[in-house]
Amino acid sequence: MVDIHFHIRKTPAANNAHLDGCGVSNAILLTGLNSIDALHSTESQSPHRYVWSASTDVTKPEAPQLLTDAVKNGAIGLGELKAHVASDGPELRRLYALAGELNVPILVHFQEVPHYDGEGVFSTPFKSLEAMLKAYPKTRFVGHADAFWANISADYANQSAYPSGPIKPGGLTDRLLSDYPNLYGDLSANSGNNALSRDPGFTPAFLARHQDKLMFGSDCSCSDGHGAGISQANNPAAARLAGKCVARETLTVLKDSTSPEVFRKLTWENAHAVYRITSSTLS
Ligand SMILES: [Zn+2]
Ligand SMILES: [Zn+2]
Repeated sequence: MVDIHFHIRKTPAANNAHLDGCGVSNAILLTGLNSIDALHSTESQSPHRYVWSASTDVTKPEAPQLLTDAVKNGAIGLGELKAHVASDGPELRRLYALAGELNVPILVHFQEVPHYDGEGVFSTPFKSLEAMLKAYPKTRFVGHADAFWANISADYANQSAYPSGPIKPGGLTDRLLSDYPNLYGDLSANSGNNALSRDPGFTPAFLARHQDKLMFGSDCSCSDGHGAGISQANNPAAARLAGKCVARETLTVLKDSTSPEVFRKLTWENAHAVYRITSSTLS
């Protein structure tokens, strides 16, 4: 299995401890350009276990050049990009275009409801994503976070970060995944887990419908792959996963809601296809 949403930790041992603890073989290391030393030491200590995706401050004028260089140096994606900018503003537009030119996916955090006073919002408004999917048809978008997942229900209107209860069919995210071949979904974090857990009657058909578009990820920050420490850092709104490992919780929901063939797509094959990971790279 490959965890497509794994923020790099300070040491190779810390990275391996989470994967070993939750029983996940491989990960895409989401790596800021100030963590390249940790990346190199982790990759060299555990060959064939990791690939990486590059992120930087999207408001920096030189962001496109820095990310282009990162892809030349082996990054297989752009992201996670999480910034207080418009989803259809100039900072992200130039990177949507760049991802298309470089032929790598771009992973974006969409959040319209702050988790605490002063947190702010990220890549808003979510509803502009459709126009971006149309404007950049060659770009592979990977949707992530609260607004992406809350909008699988048609009755969502930013009433909370993580809505609970039954899902009303026809939500924006569900429709975008059906209508746009260049949109994919990152199942990570409390947002993804909550969306899969809130209405067990909805989940199996949703996963079957988008079985070629969705990818397992954890975004877990627990230390040991068993829930020690804090699994959803800086997020008091995600208390439902306190003491739990997000990777384990989400893999359990996926296993319970899919056939073995679909489970393999969600946890392995789709990541290879979307991120163009060749078959011998991870083992
Ligand atoms: Zn995020
Ligand atoms: Zn964990």
